Amino acid sequence: CGIVGYIGKRPAVPVLLAGLEKLEYRGYDSAGIAVLDETGISTCKTVGKLAALENKLGQDYPQSGIGIGHTRWATHGRPSDLNSHPHLDTEEQFAVVHNGIIENYMELKEWLIEQGHEFISETDTEVLPHLVSYYYEGNLEAAVRKVLEKIRGSFAIVVMSRRDPSRIVAARKDSPMVVGLGEGEFFVASDIPAILNYTRKTYILEDGEMVVLTRDGVTVTDFKGNPRSKEVYEVKWDA
Ligand code: GLU
Repeated sequence: CGIVGYIGKRPAVPVLLAGLEKLEYRGYDSAGIAVLDETGISTCKTVGKLAALENKLGQDYPQSGIGIGHTRWATHGRPSDLNSHPHLDTEEQFAVVHNGIIENYMELKEWLIEQGHEFISETDTEVLPHLVSYYYEGNLEAAVRKVLEKIRGSFAIVVMSRRDPSRIVAARKDSPMVVGLGEGEFFVASDIPAILNYTRKTYILEDGEMVVLTRDGVTVTDFKGNPRSKEVYEVKWDA
């Protein structure tokens, strides 16, 4: 339902929590975040409000500068800690948050199970990290492009990987997504209020666009990887 991703110089956790808080108006039943550091992907997720997530996190969270967060409005699988996003693949190399619905998730899930993948949630979303893992051959963006060819439905997705800790990859179709352009730090979110505390310079993504965020900048392409030129939209209003 609500998505925030961050890569940059500050600890990601407070940025993600503050961003998700600005998206609370959309309603949600669970919340979660994942951050990436030398030890791998750490997740914290819980059914209930952001306050419950903050409680569970405590003060002792990883200080990593790359992470993704989500508030969930359950469509497939009841609200529970396990069904909350972010979702990971079996080896915990890839983390994904997703808004929307993957319509063909059942057949993808059955096929992935035949390939030896183990599923732990009841969500449609969980096929995504498993698919990225299946297609990953050293290039995260290329793997996500292959996944985008396989999935049907509506989605805004954000992917982060232990195999490539220098980037966040995101894509949208029939679900909103914006990019925030800072100084040596970049944001992706399902709506502008989530990033307004940090920057007013944005790209509004269109359907069929994907984006790669690194600490050096942002590249927008279509799902095939062809570059798209974007105009900076400067937000003049306050959330
Ligand atoms: N379909 C996904 C789920 O039920 C995402 C729901 C959402 O947009 O929050 O987990």
